[in-house]
Amino acid sequence: MSKKLFIKTYGCQMNVYDSARMADALVPHGYARVDRSDDADLIILNTCHIREKAAEKVYSELGRLRQMRERRRAAGGDLTIGVAGCVAQAEGEAMLERAPFVDLVVGPQTYHRLPELLHRLARGSRGVVDTDFPLESKFDLLPGPTSGPVGASAFLTVQEGCDRFCTFCVVPYTRGAEESRPAAAVLAEARQLVAAGAREITLLGQNVNAYHGEGPDGRSWSLARLIAALAGQEGLARIRYTTSHPRDMTDDLIDAHGAIDKLMPFLHLPVQSGSDAVLEAMNRRHRADDYRQIVDRLRMARPDLALSSDFIVGFPGESEADFRATMALVQEIGFAQAFSFKYSPRPGTPAASMRRQVKDAIKRERLAELQALLAAQATAFNQATVGRVLPVLLEHAGRHDGQMVGRTPYLQPVHLQAPDARPGMLIDVLIEDSQPHSLAGATLAAPWPEPQRREACA
Ligand code: SF4
Repeated sequence: MSKKLFIKTYGCQMNVYDSARMADALVPHGYARVDRSDDADLIILNTCHIREKAAEKVYSELGRLRQMRERRRAAGGDLTIGVAGCVAQAEGEAMLERAPFVDLVVGPQTYHRLPELLHRLARGSRGVVDTDFPLESKFDLLPGPTSGPVGASAFLTVQEGCDRFCTFCVVPYTRGAEESRPAAAVLAEARQLVAAGAREITLLGQNVNAYHGEGPDGRSWSLARLIAALAGQEGLARIRYTTSHPRDMTDDLIDAHGAIDKLMPFLHLPVQSGSDAVLEAMNRRHRADDYRQIVDRLRMARPDLALSSDFIVGFPGESEADFRATMALVQEIGFAQAFSFKYSPRPGTPAASMRRQVKDAIKRERLAELQALLAAQATAFNQATVGRVLPVLLEHAGRHDGQMVGRTPYLQPVHLQAPDARPGMLIDVLIEDSQPHSLAGATLAAPWPEPQRREACA
């Protein structure tokens, strides 16, 4: 009988992808992934270090799992507890000092060793820790996407780690140096995903547009080249990529936005601040005007491109004038959506020990003002699509009878009544109503075309 595996995933899409790959690694060794922790034999917390007090939240969840295991043991059962992801990488052996009941601590670069690590536990080892950055690539050793259902929209990691060392960010320390997967491996995995039902693939990387994987021709391929090759994949209707750094927005990638129909007109391009002084303190290595110019060129290539971004307010040393520069940049560019946060120090990063930390009350005020502007822009963007007919890729059933939920080319979720439709269909939808975070629409006449079709969304 197979053992039940439950993975609780925190954080970004890369962790969602990693959780699926961990399951892929364990299924051949007798595990079946389940959706509930209650009856799992093995629970893995796949953690994220980006948010404030991430480690504290993991320890508090571990306390809950410890109690669950005590209850199980009292009833004659058992539970294996594992921690993966960036908090596991950052804490390493220290995690066992603070939570000695944890069985397994595994960093993001060694998921391919999970079966062997569990085998060591089964043979009586206690507190197994593996937070190496091994020479072998986990991608060469992990199986393909085999363990679970593949949705209409799938993630595919093409690049990991980061060499940029922004002063607020833990990624270079927890995920290590930039590594790109060979293009042939990415294309093979994309074929598997499409064969399993994916119609949209989002290429993932901590700094995805720094991709420079080896091509089948032996040369280094850029992300644009990879996307062009992927666009030739029959059955694949849409391509996206995230997350990008402005410095790595190369000419060929900008051109790709105009030239490749399957590349969706939505781009998450974090700028973090509109102040050059703050950008320099963040070690972003670009100015606010560089960002403006990149956006201008992207919009020349693809006039309907919708933009998303990340913002940090209250970075150490951020003055009122610096904050006004951020507000001015947001006003000028106009974002379809965005993520914005108060700066909070991450242990071990240079910014954590910078002088001139900004008072929390000021951060709160600035964040509220910025978020009000970003929310107004998102609402206006959604409102502007009302009355248009947009191609919507259906992803899953909605909460109501006959309801489906899909996404426009601009990544907006759309709710519609389509009782005869199914996930994976790409159908034209008349957008009838908009909310700050979603749209409502009506299908045009059924039956809808099943196979791939050319996108036309402007
Ligand atoms: S580019 Fe992104 S992942 Fe890399 S250090 Fe900066 S914020 Fe972190």
